[in-house]
Amino acid sequence: MNLAEHADGGLIGAVEAGGTKFVLALARPDGTILARTRLPTQSPQQTFAAMAAFFEQAAATHGRIAAFGIASFGPIDVIPSSPTYGTITTTTKPGWPGASYHDVLARFGVPVQIHTDVVGAAIGEWIRGAGAGATTLAYTTVGTGIGSGLIREGRPLMGFSHYETGHIQPPHDLATDPFPGICAFHQDCAEGLASGPAIKSRWGKSLDELAGDSAAVSLIAGYLGHLAATLVLMHMPDRLIFGGGVLKTPGLIEAIRAATTARLAGYVQHPRLDPGLVDYIALPALGDDAGISGAIELGRQALTS
Ligand code: ZN
Repeated sequence: MNLAEHADGGLIGAVEAGGTKFVLALARPDGTILARTRLPTQSPQQTFAAMAAFFEQAAATHGRIAAFGIASFGPIDVIPSSPTYGTITTTTKPGWPGASYHDVLARFGVPVQIHTDVVGAAIGEWIRGAGAGATTLAYTTVGTGIGSGLIREGRPLMGFSHYETGHIQPPHDLATDPFPGICAFHQDCAEGLASGPAIKSRWGKSLDELAGDSAAVSLIAGYLGHLAATLVLMHMPDRLIFGGGVLKTPGLIEAIRAATTARLAGYVQHPRLDPGLVDYIALPALGDDAGISGAIELGRQALTS
């Protein structure tokens, strides 16, 4: 892939939108960032006004914006042919349902590609991180919520909407884990059992604070291993990346590899699935830069497609 081949076509406005902060960047299509800032996530009116002002000023300094790429928290409409493409849908975040990136960016009159924050992170890791070289890649974040971004050759995979892997329900043995789960829709889906808030609700502590408790780490790894094995069976990715705050727990990634191996039970045999899954299931390599890198690439794709 030649990232520089369209460098003459203008600049990319990139947005990584999270529940607590927005990262904004003006970049060349090759990924070089010319201007960058971060904003607190307030009401859509406040945040979108500040976002538009940043891009107008950055474009005045550095040059014309030719496309936008946005990697946003959701749920969000990611279907380009939909009349509500780029609109936040059923989030519980006050004021945000119905907020539309297109409404605020229409004044620039350029193509916009919008996808989820986890797809943005997947693309960022694929460009120059732990997903480099993978054809199909799945990036799963385990933090405030759980979700997976799937990409193939750097482009988002989806159906009539983005995937919602965090709401798959793993087997839940109430004898070993009587915690009922916290998902408002399903109670004991993966997010209801193994997200950061679920862990805090179950034990009153983060998993990091419980890292000496191998039974706690193993329990959470069991639920995440079920999700990992499901991703393998559904998509056969070349690699799985697990990131997010909960993955900062020492020993968790190793326990997820073991749980995934147990779940797959030797059924899928392929050189990609190395013994112990040490190469196959990876931690992110880019840290906080994956999301904005992915958003720049989404914008580059909007420019060239
Ligand atoms: Zn759920």
